[in-house]
Amino acid sequence: SERPTFQAVDPATDAPGRRYEGHTAEEALEMARAARRAFEDWRRTSFADRAGLMRAAAVVLRHRQDEFAELMCAEMGKLLADGRAEVEKCAVGCEFYADHAEAFLKDEPVDFGGPKAKVVYRPLGTVLAVMPWNFPFWQVFRFAAPTLMAGNTAVLKHASNVPGCALAIEEVFREAGFPQDVFRTALIPSGAVKALIEDDAIAAVSLTGSVEAGRKVAAQAGAVLKKCVLELGGSDAYLVLDDADIEVAAKTAAAARMVNAGQSCIAGKRFVVLASVREAFEAALAREMEAYAMGDPRAEGTKLGPLVRTADRDGVHAQVRRSVEAGARLLTGGQIPDRPGAWYPPTVLAGVRPGMAAYDEEVFGPVAAVIEAADEAEAVRIANDSAFGLGSGVLTGDLARGERLATDALEAGMSFVNQNVRSDPRLPFGGVKHSGFGRELAAFGLREFVNIKSVVVA
Ligand code: NAP
Repeated sequence: SERPTFQAVDPATDAPGRRYEGHTAEEALEMARAARRAFEDWRRTSFADRAGLMRAAAVVLRHRQDEFAELMCAEMGKLLADGRAEVEKCAVGCEFYADHAEAFLKDEPVDFGGPKAKVVYRPLGTVLAVMPWNFPFWQVFRFAAPTLMAGNTAVLKHASNVPGCALAIEEVFREAGFPQDVFRTALIPSGAVKALIEDDAIAAVSLTGSVEAGRKVAAQAGAVLKKCVLELGGSDAYLVLDDADIEVAAKTAAAARMVNAGQSCIAGKRFVVLASVREAFEAALAREMEAYAMGDPRAEGTKLGPLVRTADRDGVHAQVRRSVEAGARLLTGGQIPDRPGAWYPPTVLAGVRPGMAAYDEEVFGPVAAVIEAADEAEAVRIANDSAFGLGSGVLTGDLARGERLATDALEAGMSFVNQNVRSDPRLPFGGVKHSGFGRELAAFGLREFVNIKSVVVA
């Protein structure tokens, strides 16, 4: 088949960057088969050996931290400071699984009356990872660290706009001393994924990305009866209760919305505010959002860089326009600046109601939606009135009230009180409804791609 090429584009200027020669469909299949062959030795290595290599990967990451931050900035516009923090988070993730994988996968004796019985966890084989551009390093490492520690090997198909990051991640594992073919990057377009899923070399697939991509990949995996884990979109709601300190709540809300220029699955997207504090919250939120001034993503102190691509920016703007045409009030932002690059200002929409894009759809950019609710019960109903169920938040002055709502009222994989939802290796990460199924991180993520095997010895 034809050899694809991947052209990096700097989102800050629209200037073309490096051009990468990709892999043909045949080369990608050969890569998957090589990874499957590497599995036969890798599965027999000790946890201590794998942990040593994973710690070496953390050292490589930290050693090349600035270089990788620059690469993310050049390919998808991430602030340099955020890129450095992301690389450090990957190193911590590698160390976390180096430290804990063995305990998480320890044989578990079971009281079975007479015979000896136990549950053991064994690797599945080679896992295909289809990953998005928004956290180009972290999304991959939070998959790869547990998956490799469990004794699987992996093939990465990364988003087409981050080819440099995709190859750099393969290099990290090589430089750390992992055996050849334990982790491989295939530079292929999304159309080449189906053949990989169908090939005997691939045992399972993990996808982080949009609902649309998840639906297709899950159907393809289902057709050949292979397990998949899906981390899809989100439209996280934060309840802003009448007992909240409104200034603090607005600061937290803006920070939740502006993570990665608003391009995060777990960014706070809908702020459901009780009527008695709505006006105060709207004013405070607009002010806090405006503090995220657009600027050079390479400059220290910049709080908002460009979005990923001009076309994606135009999509966000169209969602804002459609919401305003349907009656939403624009409190700030909402104008495309007159300059090259994928720029969009911090934007706040108020009076958001069902039927508006900002209510019904995931908005992947720096746009906060404020929705009024008459009381707590209505606020919960609105928060749950979404196709998604990834993260959620409660901003309140009453921690017991917040805990009750977070624990039992909000339909989401993660609910945080008075803190922004964020991923952490110590906690499972994932969603319900259209946000996907399966979990990453913690022990749960490690056990997704293993054979949970019962052994009975009479
Ligand atoms: P995307 O377009 O779905 O792309 C994600 C990955 O899937 C890319 O590697 C893409 O490859 C691939 N892909 C797309 N269509 C495919 C298909 N039909 N078959 C096989 N692979 C396919 O998503 P995105 O725009 O990069 O990322 C944004 C979305 O990801 C948002 O909805 C966000 O909420 C979600 N996300 C979720 C999480 C989570 O943990 N739940 C984390 C981050 C992001 P190409 O680039 O080659 O098309």
